[in-house]
Amino acid sequence: MKVINLKLKEDSYNIYLGNNTVEKIPSYLRRSNIGNFCVIITNRKIFHLHKNKIKKIIQSIPHRVIEVPDGERCKSKKWVFKIIDELVKVDGIKKRIFITCVGGGTIGDLGGFVASIYKRGIPYIQVPTTLLGCVDASIGGKTAINLKEAKNIVGTFYQPKSVFVDLNFLHTLPFRELKQGFAEVIKYAVIEDKELFNFLEANYQRVRKLDRRFIAPVIEKCIRIKAKIVEGDEKEKRGVRTILNFGHTLGHALEASLGYQRKLTHGEAIALGMICASFISSSLGLCSREERERIKRLIELYSLPTEFSFLPEKVLKSLSLDKKFVGGIRMVLLERIGKTKVCKDVSLDLIKKSLRIIRRSG
Ligand code: NAD
Repeated sequence: MKVINLKLKEDSYNIYLGNNTVEKIPSYLRRSNIGNFCVIITNRKIFHLHKNKIKKIIQSIPHRVIEVPDGERCKSKKWVFKIIDELVKVDGIKKRIFITCVGGGTIGDLGGFVASIYKRGIPYIQVPTTLLGCVDASIGGKTAINLKEAKNIVGTFYQPKSVFVDLNFLHTLPFRELKQGFAEVIKYAVIEDKELFNFLEANYQRVRKLDRRFIAPVIEKCIRIKAKIVEGDEKEKRGVRTILNFGHTLGHALEASLGYQRKLTHGEAIALGMICASFISSSLGLCSREERERIKRLIELYSLPTEFSFLPEKVLKSLSLDKKFVGGIRMVLLERIGKTKVCKDVSLDLIKKSLRIIRRSG
């Protein structure tokens, strides 16, 4: 098992990575004195697929399991208060409640948010079960729920006490969900780590198949990159975290223009956004054309889309609602694979050209 320490001024914590890390939770609970009553937040699908694993946690401590709806639907006001009602019911003198989020990024965001507001903050642990959760959402302490007007619009910065990344959860993940994680993995490689990029290229078949010897080092590298970025800018005040938005400016606009339908998942939108950002970078003479082509090819190797059918006017409208055009738009671009540059004034004309690259006609 690998232990990666995320160092912060006040709330440093460990991220445990390995094959059966969940089995280490009972001894961690005894050691850490985190609390004496565990509220597990998960959903029916995950609970049924991984009952034996989850039982390992709950057998060791008094607990209550709360099943929330699948996907984004759980990140709602309604579920925040349903969980708080349950916390109030089980709470009492001598009870020290903590939350354990067992699920993808949605459950992590919801559980972390509730933990941050109940009694002005109770401890929580992240047990991510999707690839996106393992490499991104469970790390860094951003919590959020959605309103119908916008995604992630209500949230807090609130760090977990520990993160247990157990690779065995990933084997039941449908490939479309796995790909969402691969999009973020590719993003980390492109923005920060050329070696990881080469590895993903050279070993794509084994990484895609989740061959342990190949997926474990990939996840570890991504966690270390995310941890380093969070350490440098815990609350997104210094601009360090900005580079994580590579591919997200146009990716978000694409998603928003389609009304967040599952026709295009978040990961797929980010893949397309990365192609646009690479095109803009090479058009501005930053990265080379060859590098731009390599990025596109890597995206294809992980079965992520390189084109899609959409209405450019709608994407530009969504972009203008999300970002301010002051002469141009601020975007994370690439100097080369592994090195980013934030550009403040990308022209509308160049953005339109980049959308033509990813637009499938008909
Ligand atoms: P998700 O939580 O909706 O999970 C995707 C699907 O996979 C769901 O249907 C889920 O039930 C299922 N699933 C989960 N684990 C499974 C398993 N082991 N086997 C089979 N099925 C499984 O989505 P996600 O992609 O994990 O996360 C997306 C969310 O994460 C978004 O809400 C996004 O805003 C958030 N996010 C947060 C951060 C952050 O820093 N807090 C970062 C990135 C994304």
